[in-house]
Amino acid sequence: MINLSPPLQQKLQMLEMLASSGLSTYGLTVSSGCGPTMMVEGRECINFISNSYLGFSMHPQVIEAACQAARKYGIGIGGSPLACGTTELHLRLAEIIARTYGKQEALVFATGYQALTGMLSGLLTGKDLALVDNLDHRSIIDGCKLAGCRIRSFVHNNSEDLRRLVESTSSHQGHRLLIVDSVYSMDGDIAPLPEINDICRPAGVTVCIDEAHSLGILGRSGKGLLEHFDLPDGADVVAGTFSKFAGAVGGFCAADSQVIELLRMQASPFVFSASLPPAIVAAVTTSFELLEREPHWRRQLWDNVHFVLEGLHEMGYDTGASRTPVIPVMIRDTEKVLRMNRALLDEGVYASAVVHPGVPLRQERIRLGVMASHTREQLTRALEAFQRVGRRFDVIS
Ligand code: PMP
Repeated sequence: MINLSPPLQQKLQMLEMLASSGLSTYGLTVSSGCGPTMMVEGRECINFISNSYLGFSMHPQVIEAACQAARKYGIGIGGSPLACGTTELHLRLAEIIARTYGKQEALVFATGYQALTGMLSGLLTGKDLALVDNLDHRSIIDGCKLAGCRIRSFVHNNSEDLRRLVESTSSHQGHRLLIVDSVYSMDGDIAPLPEINDICRPAGVTVCIDEAHSLGILGRSGKGLLEHFDLPDGADVVAGTFSKFAGAVGGFCAADSQVIELLRMQASPFVFSASLPPAIVAAVTTSFELLEREPHWRRQLWDNVHFVLEGLHEMGYDTGASRTPVIPVMIRDTEKVLRMNRALLDEGVYASAVVHPGVPLRQERIRLGVMASHTREQLTRALEAFQRVGRRFDVIS
């Protein structure tokens, strides 16, 4: 055993306790694709654990596009984007992304995490200040750490607190950059972009958004937060991932040409890592095309979201401020959330138990990711399981 420091030894002990309790539902073995149901440890379950909201990872046209590109390019391109890793497919996808967000250019990253860390480490220096929502995704915090900038946070989605923060940092000499999630990954609520613009623009603060859970989901045609609020110029820089709406992997950043040029040469997660494989690039390109060609998936998704939210509310569950396919079922107790999630799995419903430090203490929850391809029968069965399990654990009456 290596000589770990005491805090890590403590953490390891806790992880060993969790593993031996039989309550953990983390990282179970899956033996199917990510459809509305999944084979989990040899058993078919209704899938509420993924972020593949539109179900595109299993779409026949997406799979075919990946197969064709794999036949031409192989399984990887063998280098970083500045070496041999920029194919015509990468450039075409970047063009589609730039057009989607009304930006001059875009860059394709190997993961969403790298897009966020790359964007922030490329645009901020040790003299600069990042203004972050206190529930921003970990990739944002890690990006700020990589940049070595100062970080100041404001209370989640609280415009008045943001106003105070912007005013109290007005004498800062360096660049000030605000970054928020468009849709919060554990709460499913939406960033107040109009207020953010009203506060940040006059103060000269750069506005960046992370479209991970909103691209393909929000807006009349699925173009995300800017379309949702009808604010085409509502962000200077837009980053996001292909792991949610496309159910694939990869990320992006879209902005003015100058910003993209800087990131291309300066963002270390872009420069020092291998390119997204062409087969995935082709699959994601087809997913973007499906957003236009098959809008019924988005309609179905929203029907399903409303059905699940209403069903849970009728039973007396608290789903926080969620208004999107990310639905937290608040339990507010670590042991209960683990036990309930295991009981749901025994009933054939596979969801995430989210505990500290993923969320603050007393905010423990079961997180659901609703899919467009869930049938009414599957959703009804899942809600019935929530009713039985919720009563058994005294969460609802
Ligand atoms: N931003 C947010 C808000 C996320 O939820 C995630 C992933 N859960 C990421 C960025 C990172 O994206 P990826 O998993 O595609 O690397």
